[in-house]
Amino acid sequence: MAHTVCLTVDFDAVSPWLHAGEFGDSPVQRSRGVFGAEVGAPRLIDLFDRLDVPTTWFVPGHTIDSFPEPCERVVDAGHEIGHHGWSHTPPGEYESREAERADVARGIESIERLTGSAPAGYRSPSWDFSPHTVPLLQEFGFEYSSSGMAREFEPYELTEEHAPVDGPYETGDPVGITEVPVSWQRDDYPALAFSGNRAFSDEGAVFDHWRRQFDWMSEHAADGVYVLTLHPQVSGRSPRPSMLRELIEHMAAKPGVEFATVSDALAGTRSAGEGEEH
Ligand SMILES: [Zn+2]
Repeated sequence: MAHTVCLTVDFDAVSPWLHAGEFGDSPVQRSRGVFGAEVGAPRLIDLFDRLDVPTTWFVPGHTIDSFPEPCERVVDAGHEIGHHGWSHTPPGEYESREAERADVARGIESIERLTGSAPAGYRSPSWDFSPHTVPLLQEFGFEYSSSGMAREFEPYELTEEHAPVDGPYETGDPVGITEVPVSWQRDDYPALAFSGNRAFSDEGAVFDHWRRQFDWMSEHAADGVYVLTLHPQVSGRSPRPSMLRELIEHMAAKPGVEFATVSDALAGTRSAGEGEEH
């Protein structure tokens, strides 16, 4: 069994803290994002460089336009850049379809300026879709999304769905976009970021939990794709880069494990599937 690890970085910087809300829209909250851009991201880039692992960074256009230097370092190091909104607005909070469309288009423009090409992948801010999100992803030609949770370690095809409150839930036709599933269980933010009056977790227990999920996948899932979601403003803080290094080394020591960008992991999954048919 071959397994793939996709380390993904949601490079939000200050963008989530621009939105009014319980914890957003304040200078001190924004300073957490400045730390992410100016300290956390360089630490993660250095770590991935030392360990020679390709990764995928989902970067809001706001981050690209505000902190170009670390974004250029990410590109120069060969990592993939994916879409994460321009303004990091959760899709359900756009005022209209047109407002969502304009923000997605602006995010693509920022990425094109950074990398020279449009992104293949989209990750929804806050991991949610509005009723317009999937049709917009189709319109803009995205190949994959990494926001859904219908599988654990297995990419799957996004489909139309019918979810009336007064009738059965049904899925419809595939929409031509592959979903590379994420999990709140493999996201540093809910586990390790202080939020309101919620204390952060035991860091060792969180990294141990991620390691045990990887071990479970390698024993039970055929050709699993393990997606871990990191935020520079969370996992870039000490001593987490060292703990992340230990986790990556544990994974790399397992025979048959590869680290890949999400795009490359999908290409590998597709060619493996084609091979089985012959
Ligand atoms: Zn984000």
